[in-house]
Amino acid sequence: MNQTLLNRSLQSVWHPCTQMKQHETYPLTPIARGDGVWLYDTDGKRYLDGVSSWWVNLFGHNNTAIKDAIKQQLDTLEHVMLAGFTHQPVVELSEKLAKLTGLGHAFYASDGASATEIALKMSFHFWRNSGKPSKTKFISLQNSYHGETLGALGVTDVAIFKDTYAPLLMQSAQMPSPDFRLAETGEGAEAYALRCADALEQYVSEHSHELAAFIIEPLVQCAAGMAMYHPVYLKCAREICTTYSVHLIADEIAVGFGRTGTMFACEQATEVNHALKERPVFADFMCLSKGITGGYLPLSVVLTRDEIYQAFYDEKVTKAFLHSHSYTGNPLACSAALATLSIFETDNILQKNRETSDFIWGEMQALNNLSSHNLPIEHLRRPNLNRSGMIFAFDVITQNPNFARDCYAAALAQGLLIRPIGNTVYLMPPYTINHEEISYALQASIHAVSKAVK
Ligand SMILES: *Cc1c(COP(=O)(O)O)cnc(C)c1O
Repeated sequence: MNQTLLNRSLQSVWHPCTQMKQHETYPLTPIARGDGVWLYDTDGKRYLDGVSSWWVNLFGHNNTAIKDAIKQQLDTLEHVMLAGFTHQPVVELSEKLAKLTGLGHAFYASDGASATEIALKMSFHFWRNSGKPSKTKFISLQNSYHGETLGALGVTDVAIFKDTYAPLLMQSAQMPSPDFRLAETGEGAEAYALRCADALEQYVSEHSHELAAFIIEPLVQCAAGMAMYHPVYLKCAREICTTYSVHLIADEIAVGFGRTGTMFACEQATEVNHALKERPVFADFMCLSKGITGGYLPLSVVLTRDEIYQAFYDEKVTKAFLHSHSYTGNPLACSAALATLSIFETDNILQKNRETSDFIWGEMQALNNLSSHNLPIEHLRRPNLNRSGMIFAFDVITQNPNFARDCYAAALAQGLLIRPIGNTVYLMPPYTINHEEISYALQASIHAVSKAVK
């Protein structure tokens, strides 16, 4: 291992989501290059990127199409401010996203948390511009994750990220999570989701005068530990928000761009109108980031409806949305996003993913057969009631308080990058993973889990 680089990193880089002292026993991994699903360290040892580098990489590292698009853009225009100026990539991307989502106005930022901030501010500001200044509060789901800046953390409900900063945060109420694992014994995922929707309606009906928006991660609460739920909850949430005039913010930062089997997870909430071949628009605001550039450059966007946009359109400057970030709509990032969207079309990715997902699911059934590996696991799952999607998770029953860390370390030693969340082990690989690589990842996972359960 390149000890000098590791030591210099520990001296000068404050790593995210890390107790730095733990690096006394768990060393950093210095990565020199990436190719396809593989990351290579400075000694040439390779690791299969089983978490798509924190859920951002869709089509593998060193992807020719995305790389070429960025290079071409680099020779034309690297950046220009988006206030008072515009450019081809940002216009094209906004038009494409409008077509895909039915939400015709795109506001850009650089990371997911900023997208959450923007959606919250826009919702509040819409009500204010519309003569309803009392609608200032937000609700989210129990165990939700919407980012870690102060506003986003205010609607996040993951104790380890939130509790320390509680005195700094705006208050928000959490609705019962429809996570199927929380159902009563004998109660199905759908019945439980409906029960949670009833609780949501109860709360919203009593508080609608002060509620601006309900923010939700459609189908999978990823950071909570890949908590999955029945799509009927989304359908109910949409109806409840419409009935009581509360905005619905779909945070598709993690699940957007094909992760759950459809381009966007919230598509699964609504029926296709076959006469029009269209789905009704689900969200008032949709937040996108992570996979949007295929994992190449930071970019996020909040999409919204024309009616909301129109409430800001006025002679008065203060009615405008004056929010800004320096790198808003960066042309290089937009060109990476356009190349990413092209791959979905040219390579028929959603169809291909269905096949890959079914293959992985089939292989994972062997895991479910506990006797073959003696692994104490439960709740083996993938999105859409196990029907599709490129997220695979199970929970490990163990008394080891350091299970996540030990499993991570054991997998790395086997040449696999996974990052368990508590006792939940998941794979969220790049869509380009092939059969051989899938077997490799599953073998290494089994090995790592069996080592870490103790
Ligand atoms: C990752 C994530 C965010 C925050 O995005 P960052 O780019 O890390 O700030 C917000 N919401 C969800 C659902 C996420 O998974």
